[in-house]
Amino acid sequence: MKSIAERLDSLRRQIPMHVKLVAVSKTKSKDEILEAYHSGQRAFGENYVQEMVAKQPLLPPEIEWHFIGHLQTNKVRSIAPFVQWIHSVDSEKLLAEINTQAAKHHRVIHCLLQVHVAVEETKFGWDNEELTAFCGRADFRQYPFVNIRGIMGMASFSEDEKLVRSEFQVIKKCFEELKTTAFKGKADFTEISMGMSSDWRWAVEEGSSMVRIGSAIFGARN
Ligand SMILES: *Cc1c(COP(=O)(O)O)cnc(C)c1O
Repeated sequence: MKSIAERLDSLRRQIPMHVKLVAVSKTKSKDEILEAYHSGQRAFGENYVQEMVAKQPLLPPEIEWHFIGHLQTNKVRSIAPFVQWIHSVDSEKLLAEINTQAAKHHRVIHCLLQVHVAVEETKFGWDNEELTAFCGRADFRQYPFVNIRGIMGMASFSEDEKLVRSEFQVIKKCFEELKTTAFKGKADFTEISMGMSSDWRWAVEEGSSMVRIGSAIFGARN
């Protein structure tokens, strides 16, 4: 069986340089995360607040923590002191709370707006039209401790390449539209977080800038 370091090496050889690899370490132990860290990985993603808050103090401060799961407003407080990226912003209420909590720590948190495209998957996120409408009317200057860097989406959990690619294309198109409208002139609105272990190759070909990969690095979860 391949080690975590070997799997990471092989992924790094395949993922283009301009695409950021976020290693999704949910359910994985401190030692497994450290093995990835020692092979050079710095960005790690978690999707449960309690788990992330428990692991973070045990691990090197150089780790860049990405929160990728559904985030409840009342849980923002506990990750605000250290989280660098939140991929799963799905309401203005959540955005406002991230701003409030980040301000308390004099930090700016990078955020991605979650767009919902998959038919049968999570109900979190705005759909394509809702997101463009929201961004058109929102005044993001109210939230100086949040930096909206792009969008995040998940394709259907399917082996149907045509379906999955078409969903990634919807996410990409939504990003391009926002880039020329609500976020026009915002030079760092650059990120499209899409692609996981099963579909990251398709996601990258369809324009992903960040892939969130768990099982292909750490092995299957229980
Ligand atoms: C678990 C998870 C991933 C990674 O899934 P793998 O299939 O293990 O690569 C990516 N994104 C989100 C939001 C997740 O919850």
